[in-house]
Amino acid sequence: MHIRKQRLLTPGPTPLYPPALHAMMASDIHHRTEDFRKAYRSCLADLKEVMGTSNDVLMFAASGTGAMDAAVSNLLSKGDKVIVCSAGKFGERWVEIAKAYGLDVTVLSAPYGKSVPAPQVEAALAHEPAAKAVFVQASETSTGAAHDVRAMGRAVSHSDAILVVDAITGLGTMPLDIDAWGLDILIGGSQKAFMIPPGLAFLSISPKAWKFTETSTLPHYYFNLKKEKKSGDAGESSWTPATALILALAESLRYIKQMGMTKLVENAQMLAHATRRAVVSLGLELFAPDSPASSATAVRAPAGMDSGIIVKEFRNRFGAVIANGQGSMKGQIFRIAHLGYFDFTDLFAVVAGLEIILNANGFPVKYGTGVAAVQEIYEQVAVRQPVTA
Ligand SMILES: *Cc1c(COP(=O)(O)O)cnc(C)c1O
Repeated sequence: MHIRKQRLLTPGPTPLYPPALHAMMASDIHHRTEDFRKAYRSCLADLKEVMGTSNDVLMFAASGTGAMDAAVSNLLSKGDKVIVCSAGKFGERWVEIAKAYGLDVTVLSAPYGKSVPAPQVEAALAHEPAAKAVFVQASETSTGAAHDVRAMGRAVSHSDAILVVDAITGLGTMPLDIDAWGLDILIGGSQKAFMIPPGLAFLSISPKAWKFTETSTLPHYYFNLKKEKKSGDAGESSWTPATALILALAESLRYIKQMGMTKLVENAQMLAHATRRAVVSLGLELFAPDSPASSATAVRAPAGMDSGIIVKEFRNRFGAVIANGQGSMKGQIFRIAHLGYFDFTDLFAVVAGLEIILNANGFPVKYGTGVAAVQEIYEQVAVRQPVTA
């Protein structure tokens, strides 16, 4: 056996920022102490800063879905009419959550790989003036497609409804002007562009959305936005927080602030752009060519090849975990992630490895074709860092 480093290259969980990982070791700390409150407060303030919003930001010990659940159970009532934009597995999750709570759901669906056009949301709102909320994914990670949440925000802000955006992989990979675009609820998760392990979910909530909490009658207990806001103002969480993750988040937010959220977004955009060029140059097809997200690039496996082979080969040959398709897309596509702690060096390796795997599995490519495409983009876009030492 030779050395094969383990590499996590999936669009969540993502590679960990080492100082954040190290910070987790200081979690022998009690959560109702001033030391911990300091960390908790800094997380809330820094999240607000990197999300670029004046809305309140709340945090939960949960995976991202917890905040999705909270957004439904705290803002709506049984039988409320809602509109869900569904273009993939995570859009389907919105439908499932809404139905689980007995909402009256109108689904605007787009085939996998496509996205729901914003004018369709506008038309649906005109048709259903009683609709209370519109749910959407900023970036539909299962297909690699992005939604135009800016245009959707415009449409929804002219109505009495609120826009609830699952930006769990949108945050840190695409511009999201929460306040100016009217993104009433915007949800994020720790294991995506925030470069730390799974277990924290957060959301921002607008004054318009806060009003909905006054009339909502759906049952909820653990996820209580009003209670969490009160706790957060006191530097605490309502229940025992995931202390290790909070310490990690404080560290990764320090890094993101230092870099600037714009740069983090640009980083994902550059890598996504280079990846698209590379796979197309290798004769592969993009799964979401019309509105590709920068969080992850979904690529169709060559005709006659199961994408699971590519995933398995990455693991066996290179110790790297890349993502297969989910649901019915399993076997059809594979996904290369760009969100968070990824750089060009990672991408050179992924594309070089992909060339080897394609060649070995009956899809001949000329070695270096995809890598050269990434190198060309690097030359064009990468900002040269000053040489240190
Ligand atoms: C990862 C992800 C989620 C959250 O999934 P969890 O497993 O609950 O963390 C939700 N929406 C999108 C678009 C995601 O990528």
